[in-house]
Amino acid sequence: MKKDLIKIKYSRRIKKLPPYLFIELDKRKKSLQEKGMDIISLGVGDPDLPTPKHIIESMQKSVEDSKNHKYPFGRGINFFCEAVASWYKARFNVILDPETQIYSLIGSKEGIGHLPLAFVNPNEYVLVPQPGYPVYSSSTILAGGQIYFMPLLEKNNFLPDLDAIPKYILKKTKLMFINYPNNPTSQTATKEFFVKVVSFAKEHNIIVAHDCAYSEIYFDENNKPISFLEIPGSIDVAIEFHSLSKTYNMTGWRIGWICGNKKIIDGLAKVKDNYDSGVFNAIQYAAITALTGPQDCVAQMREIYRERRDVLVNGLKQLGLDVIEPKATFYVWSRVPSSFNSISFAEKLLSVGVVCTPGHGFGDSGEGYVRFALTVSKERIKEALERIKKCL
Ligand SMILES: *Cc1c(COP(=O)(O)O)cnc(C)c1O
Repeated sequence: MKKDLIKIKYSRRIKKLPPYLFIELDKRKKSLQEKGMDIISLGVGDPDLPTPKHIIESMQKSVEDSKNHKYPFGRGINFFCEAVASWYKARFNVILDPETQIYSLIGSKEGIGHLPLAFVNPNEYVLVPQPGYPVYSSSTILAGGQIYFMPLLEKNNFLPDLDAIPKYILKKTKLMFINYPNNPTSQTATKEFFVKVVSFAKEHNIIVAHDCAYSEIYFDENNKPISFLEIPGSIDVAIEFHSLSKTYNMTGWRIGWICGNKKIIDGLAKVKDNYDSGVFNAIQYAAITALTGPQDCVAQMREIYRERRDVLVNGLKQLGLDVIEPKATFYVWSRVPSSFNSISFAEKLLSVGVVCTPGHGFGDSGEGYVRFALTVSKERIKEALERIKKCL
């Protein structure tokens, strides 16, 4: 080694992050694409539909205003927090104080990623659903905490079995993540389950972080997904994460919020004060327009996902696949045929140019399943089904 070179070594916490499991599939996808193969991607959950026009126009106006060019800082502009409070009242009949119980985030991923830093010490546990959004476990690792995975099993309607968590773990548990409507299983939570979580959290002194990013992508108007904060007593133990990403097709804009218990929010705010300076004000104004403006764009989006879901679910069933009926989100969670595991099935589909996400990538409890994202047109989903039919 040359003397003027330094030895660059990653920290132990970085090394602890799990390897990116989709990397092999992604490499194969790219090499097939380079060979000129047409790929239908039902992999990543990023909406293909554009942000509604009135939201874009609002952003265009706000970005012109030099008042918006400064550091935003803090919880967000008053109008944003008030818009969130009104939206919450209208949608969930939950009253929140915009000054203390709502805080803007640079996308909900940012808040999920930073939350354990505020509450979790080394050797303390975080309860993490599995299969689940990978940030719950990576944020725990980056904060130096320990992960206890709660399996989401079909026999329990994809709800975690709280009674199965060992007492010695609960003694050292600070925080739990839950996520309904759920990515990747596309199931919703019952009120009874949330009630149980509130008393469980109080009994064991655990902070509840509910990720509600998919609350508006549902298929049953008479049985809409509920907020965790609707549950009596929840405000004592919980915060909820929300995002404009999925509801308004704004994944690239980076805005969401945390709401609920003031003391929990204050903890996250302390971390954020040292890491970032808030959400660009022009984006906050666009978000206000989204939350307070006409909501028919959201209803139209739901209709599009419903049509796609029906095409894919019926098609997969006709091919003999055991599909879990999606109640919400834009995902379809399906068992793989018995002669495959999740990776070999995903590889098989890739050989005909159809990308899905192997359940194993979400952790061991996801084995035996694959996830399809409904983020391509009906026509492309039909084409994907034709291809799957030919290769089975
Ligand atoms: C997409 C997603 C989010 C994060 O979205 P942001 O764009 O960061 O607001 C959070 N949780 C789950 C489960 C998601 O799928």
